[in-house]
Amino acid sequence: MNRVYNFSAGPSMLPEAVLQKAADDMLDYQGSGQSVMEMSHRSPVYDGIIKEAQRLLREVMNIPENYQVLFLQGGASSQFAAVPMNLMTKSHKADYVLSGQFSTKAFQEGSRYGDCKAVASSKENNFSCIPPLDEKEFRPDADYFHICLNNTIYGTAWSQLPDTGNVPLVADISSCILSRPIDVSKFGLVYAGAQKNVAPAGLTIVIVREDLIGEPQEGTPTMFNYGVMAKNESMYNTPPCWPIYICKLVLEWIQNDIGGLSAMEARNVKKAQVLYDFLDHSQLFKPCAQKDSRSIMNVTFVTGDKDLDAKFVKEAAAAGFVNLKGHRSVGGMRASIYNAMPPEGIDKLAAFMKKFEQENS
Ligand SMILES: *Cc1c(COP(=O)(O)O)cnc(C)c1O
Repeated sequence: MNRVYNFSAGPSMLPEAVLQKAADDMLDYQGSGQSVMEMSHRSPVYDGIIKEAQRLLREVMNIPENYQVLFLQGGASSQFAAVPMNLMTKSHKADYVLSGQFSTKAFQEGSRYGDCKAVASSKENNFSCIPPLDEKEFRPDADYFHICLNNTIYGTAWSQLPDTGNVPLVADISSCILSRPIDVSKFGLVYAGAQKNVAPAGLTIVIVREDLIGEPQEGTPTMFNYGVMAKNESMYNTPPCWPIYICKLVLEWIQNDIGGLSAMEARNVKKAQVLYDFLDHSQLFKPCAQKDSRSIMNVTFVTGDKDLDAKFVKEAAAAGFVNLKGHRSVGGMRASIYNAMPPEGIDKLAAFMKKFEQENS
């Protein structure tokens, strides 16, 4: 067996220990005589799995009691609509910061459900940074204030949260969930597609402060109604059973093998540092994100020559470093180095880049 180092932005690598455990349990989950994929979501054995996944998520992320944890489907993109449908119910206004493609999509989708305002944007800078904020632009009567905490495509991340006063802060944390501790109490709601750091595609996690769950906008589909989903403990219909089970295994891995989110953060910072240190000193490769906005999950870089970029991506893939091509909308390269990427994968990539630089300059 020859496993590659997979730098895909998502779906992405899962910890090998998790894959092995899932394989061991595949045909007969704990004496049930069936796999988790086959069992009824209403069975006591599955009930134990989903409850434990929720409990572990609360414990690992230190989620306060007054927050609901919802296991939904539809991806982070569905939340671009579900958030306004559920939260934009008082002034029907919401403020958005445009820091990349997903936050722009969230803003566009939100605008279908109410008065959305882009209070800042880094578009003129090709989204190479988190834009500076002018608090005078913030609307104190907005129903929420939306940011994307880690910008997957551009490789940027917020290092400091905006001060939105009494306006609930909502964040798309799809590509940084579980990468480091976050203070959930600073947010009204966070959401994430699971396929970057948590599980296979199919599970969407929403963590929402209970007082924000109310009567949604008229016409909101039942499946998008947070109140219905909370009341039914994410079991209004069939939940994404298998991704929830893998989520449980990943949380156990973070807790038992890594030592929790602070240890996870230290490991991730170190991994990213290896790449950024190399890029900062390279004569050939240049990092794309501005220094004060750098992500520890997605590292974007270019050579400045499209053909050379393509040659690099091709040779890297042949050497076992796959999916390094940048997003189709920006080009260049992107190394997504989520939790499951082992440190030696980064060290080996940096060594490969050094060799490529010597051979091509
Ligand atoms: C991947 C990603 C999305 C899209 O997620 P889907 O689950 O495919 O809808 C949205 N936001 C961010 C920040 C992402 O990284």
